[in-house]
Amino acid sequence: MRYVSTRGGAEPLGFEEVVLTGLAPDGGLFVPERLPHFDAEQLRELQGRDYRALAVEVMAPFVGGALSDAELRALVERAYAGFAHRAVAPLVQLGHNEWLLELFHGPTLAFKDFALQFLGQLLDLLLARRGQRAVVLGATSGDTGSAAIEGCRRCANVDIFILHPHGRVSEVQRRQMTTVLADNVHNIAVEGDFDDCQNLVKACFADRVFLPEGRLLVAVNSINWARIMAQIVYYFWAALALGAPARQCAFAVPTGNFGDVYAGYLAARMGLPVARLLVATNANDILHRCLTANDHSRRPLVPSLSPSMDIMVSSNFERLLFDLYGREGSAVAELMERFRTTGRFSLSEEALAGARTWFASERVDDEGTVATIAEEYRTSGYLLDPHSAVGVAAARRWRRDPALPMVALATAHPAKFPEAVRRAGYPADPPLPSHLADLHARPERYEVLPADLEALRRHIAAALSQGRG
Ligand SMILES: *Cc1c(COP(=O)(O)O)cnc(C)c1O
Repeated sequence: MRYVSTRGGAEPLGFEEVVLTGLAPDGGLFVPERLPHFDAEQLRELQGRDYRALAVEVMAPFVGGALSDAELRALVERAYAGFAHRAVAPLVQLGHNEWLLELFHGPTLAFKDFALQFLGQLLDLLLARRGQRAVVLGATSGDTGSAAIEGCRRCANVDIFILHPHGRVSEVQRRQMTTVLADNVHNIAVEGDFDDCQNLVKACFADRVFLPEGRLLVAVNSINWARIMAQIVYYFWAALALGAPARQCAFAVPTGNFGDVYAGYLAARMGLPVARLLVATNANDILHRCLTANDHSRRPLVPSLSPSMDIMVSSNFERLLFDLYGREGSAVAELMERFRTTGRFSLSEEALAGARTWFASERVDDEGTVATIAEEYRTSGYLLDPHSAVGVAAARRWRRDPALPMVALATAHPAKFPEAVRRAGYPADPPLPSHLADLHARPERYEVLPADLEALRRHIAAALSQGRG
């Protein structure tokens, strides 16, 4: 399997290089040159597999020759061994033909564990084979950092540095990062906001001379192809459980960077009978405006009760644009350039029509989020987290055909976001699951640094020279 850049100006690469590279040299994102396809008979054969066996079948064609079947199987086993539910991704019924796909049983209680547990294992194996070490560097406003740290904490060949804005992430989220005391894990609280963190990370990627010779620098943000790939699996899992290939279903996906719902789109393109993908946004609604009013324009960030979806621009949308424009990299490059200079673009009639054959969208603000958490708790006793509530609310607004199974993705556990849950009238902070019950008593370790590139580089270099590396 080869991967091409969405901007058409980079050499195609194999799986291993794509995982270790992140962004393509022309600024684009890597996508598979051709998608594998599963016909009805092949889908029937996949029915009844457990999650791990299914993951191997769905991901194997993307990996191509880069891993043996046995290696892939071992990676998947290790990646999902730490999930606290035997089914890995259980489906829970909320109403008539209405389902919730619980994706929060991983170690950090959010769906990002599906991708980052796998990616950590994958990096370690690829690096061991090459006899190399890597630095994983990222910025987080919440969920990504803890999932990346959990994914890498046991990696012998990885040192991970995660920047978070000092005093601006929730206590649960900070503690999920800073209580991991492994030698290769480095938490840095930056005296600044999330943008400062991101700019520091970008500057490090742009000039890598501060790293020891031969050390790779790897990004684990949602543009990394391996993350998308691992997320395709649970769409197959849910649709097969609900009767695919004989029966269609629709998915409602709480969306920020468009990584998760893009994985669902790929699953549909691979032959899964998906009736529609519902893009559920909070007040940061660039995708909803694009799909409904053809207005893809940057607006100021609105802090919401579902902070992991607070984005101004959805980076993975570029991967969809590539398909909408007939896989013409030059057309995508032009759109992205227009966006960079003017802060907006609109789609061609044809591209917009194409998008609407796969996607619909709804925007759910904080009020709708809180009302949905409250209503669901009152009627069924089920406690939704605010991100999952955006998906459920969107699904209920959009749905017209009660015969069509509707699956809303539950992307986080409610204990991660006590504020929204309290506002919905829940009388206490929702309890953390047992493996995290003592989180607030665990010792923390992190370094506070100014928002200064030189200080960060010195810190990383010093940590690497003292550590195992
Ligand atoms: C990251 C995240 C999202 C958004 O996912 P994207 O792939 O960026 O669209 C939604 N919910 C939760 C809980 C998240 O952590």
